[in-house]
Amino acid sequence: VAARPGMALHTKMLIGFAVGVAAGIAANLLFADAPWLEALIAYVTDPIGQLFLRLLFMLVMPLVFSALVLGVVEIGDPRALGRIGTKTLLWVLAVTTIAVSIGLLMVNLIQPGTGLPPEVGEGLLAASSDRAAEIATAREGVSGIQILLNIVPRNPVEAAANGDLIAVMFFALMFGVAATVIRSRSTRSFVDAVQGIYDICLKLIGWVIALAPYAVAALLFSITAKLGFDVLVQLARFVGTVLAALAIHFFVVFPLLLRLFGGMGPLAFLRGAQPALLTAFSTSSSSATLPTTLKVTVDNLGVPSRVARFVCTLGATANMNGTALFEGITVLFLAQFFGVELTIAQQVMILVLCIFGSIGAAGVPGGSLPVIAMILAMFGIPPEGIGLILGVDRLLDMCRTVVNVGGDMAGSVVIGRSEGKAESLQQAA
Ligand code: ASP
Repeated sequence: VAARPGMALHTKMLIGFAVGVAAGIAANLLFADAPWLEALIAYVTDPIGQLFLRLLFMLVMPLVFSALVLGVVEIGDPRALGRIGTKTLLWVLAVTTIAVSIGLLMVNLIQPGTGLPPEVGEGLLAASSDRAAEIATAREGVSGIQILLNIVPRNPVEAAANGDLIAVMFFALMFGVAATVIRSRSTRSFVDAVQGIYDICLKLIGWVIALAPYAVAALLFSITAKLGFDVLVQLARFVGTVLAALAIHFFVVFPLLLRLFGGMGPLAFLRGAQPALLTAFSTSSSSATLPTTLKVTVDNLGVPSRVARFVCTLGATANMNGTALFEGITVLFLAQFFGVELTIAQQVMILVLCIFGSIGAAGVPGGSLPVIAMILAMFGIPPEGIGLILGVDRLLDMCRTVVNVGGDMAGSVVIGRSEGKAESLQQAA
């Protein structure tokens, strides 16, 4: 399908999406294991997808730093900063709690872990034991108090080089606060320079996003052509439980919150948010989606940029509703499969851990898996059990990332609106 030049970006992306999925599924059904298909994936569609991902990731660090410094400086007044910060924190905690509760409720109702024949489970575990062991070991770096300490980087440049976004955010927030307090000529020119970085990043994002329709088609073709349906069928009840819970959160909870507190209808939200949602689905990464999220939140959803910069940037790693919900379901699913009985008190404990686990998870593909391994180990469930779900994780990752990014945009709309009200009250007074 040739995209007409005048066509809106989101229409082109939808076409790319549909073409990629349809061609990928057809290829998987008709030509599975054909050498030319493998070559096509390895030499054409994978590289195109990777190129797009790299271009997006290339912009994430400068964007996170400049967006947060400017966000803090523009909010300026420490009281307003405190207010927006508090609202963001409240939104994250409240909406994530709702998400995990939906997940836990569904997994208790459907009991997908008790329906899985043990031989199928053993087969799946054996098939991915290496990768599962890798994830189970990776969890050791993320235990307990260390997560909190890691928020503060020992060396901000090292943190940036390692892609440690939370640490970079902490540094940027502190930088912004200090720049606001000093307000001298030199800090003003520093802020101007940061504004320059931000504007240049936005320009670059515009160029990168123009590639999105083709990249989305390529990424989805690669994934659907490789995925196959076998594992999906074996784990159908688990996949179904996760998808149903995600759908409830996305199609019921978000619209309700947007209506009640954001003054926006679900269709207007979906239409405006669509490019970011499609990017989230195809990249499985909140961080890679951040440039697009920021752009559409300001341009399409009409959120003031100082609010969007603050909420979306922090939200990309800290506000992950889909991830939290998925963590809850997976932990209980594996407990059910391994026959580990969990009391109500333990489930409440899991709820709390999933909330903080989603804040601590990185916004990259599979970012939640080490966190899940950690929670499993705490309750005496074999962390290698992760291997059971690895075969379907990519699909679920795509879907939970959409919910993660959707939550950042919905939160921005709600907080943006209440800030508008707070300001007009101040002006009237
Ligand atoms: N891929 C997810 C994200 O970037 C994180 C995860 O749940 O694995 O939002």
